[in-house]
Amino acid sequence: MSILKIVEYGNSVLRAPTKEVSKVSKKIKNLITDMLDTMYQANGVGLAAPQVGESLKIFVIDVSDPNGPINPLVFINPKIIKKSGAINSYEGCLSFPKAYTNVRRYANVMVKALDINGRPFIMEAKDGELLARAIQHEFDHLEGKLFIDHCRNRFDANNVLAKYNLPPVDDSYLIDEDFLEKEICEYEKNHPEEVQKRNKEIEESQKQ
Ligand code: ZN
Repeated sequence: MSILKIVEYGNSVLRAPTKEVSKVSKKIKNLITDMLDTMYQANGVGLAAPQVGESLKIFVIDVSDPNGPINPLVFINPKIIKKSGAINSYEGCLSFPKAYTNVRRYANVMVKALDINGRPFIMEAKDGELLARAIQHEFDHLEGKLFIDHCRNRFDANNVLAKYNLPPVDDSYLIDEDFLEKEICEYEKNHPEEVQKRNKEIEESQKQ
C-alpha cells in the first residue's frame, strides 16, 4: 500500500497512448490498490493510470457518499459500448488541482471492462449521474484526452487554468462536439432555473 504521486496537467504522460493489460498480475493488482489509496487520500472520485505515470488501460472510481462505506470500482481495458443524451458537467480533475470548468458529456453510457479479478462486466450509468460523468472522464484519460478538451467555453477554461498556474487549453486537442452543445443548449433554454442554480453554486464554490 502506498500513495502515488499524481502528475499534473502539462506532463506529457497525460497525452500518451495507453496499453491494454494482458494479464491481471500481482503487479497490476498492487498498482490498482495504490491507485485506490491515492484517489481516496486526494478525495477524488476517480483516477486513471496515466495520472500516476502508468500508460495502462486502467481506471478506478468511487462515487459513493464520502461519509458512508467505500465502494471502489475497478475498470481494466474498458470500452464504452453505448452513449446517448447530452449534459453539462461542471468538472475538475486530480491532475488539475482546484480548476473546475463546464464541459460537455453524454448523459448515458454503457461500459464493458474487466474487474480486478480479470472478470468481464458491463455497467450502465444514466441521466448524467456522477458515475456516468466519471466513467467518461476516466475513460478519456486512457485515450490521452482531458476534461478541458470538452470545455464549453475555452476562454472561461483558460481563466480558471491561469488562476491555478496551469498551462492553457491546447486548441489542437479541443473536441468538436457541436451536436452535444446543441442538445445542451436546447435543454438549458427549456430549464433556465437549472442553469441559474448551477451558476449560483459555481459562484459560491469559487468564493471558498
Ligand atoms: Zn482526470
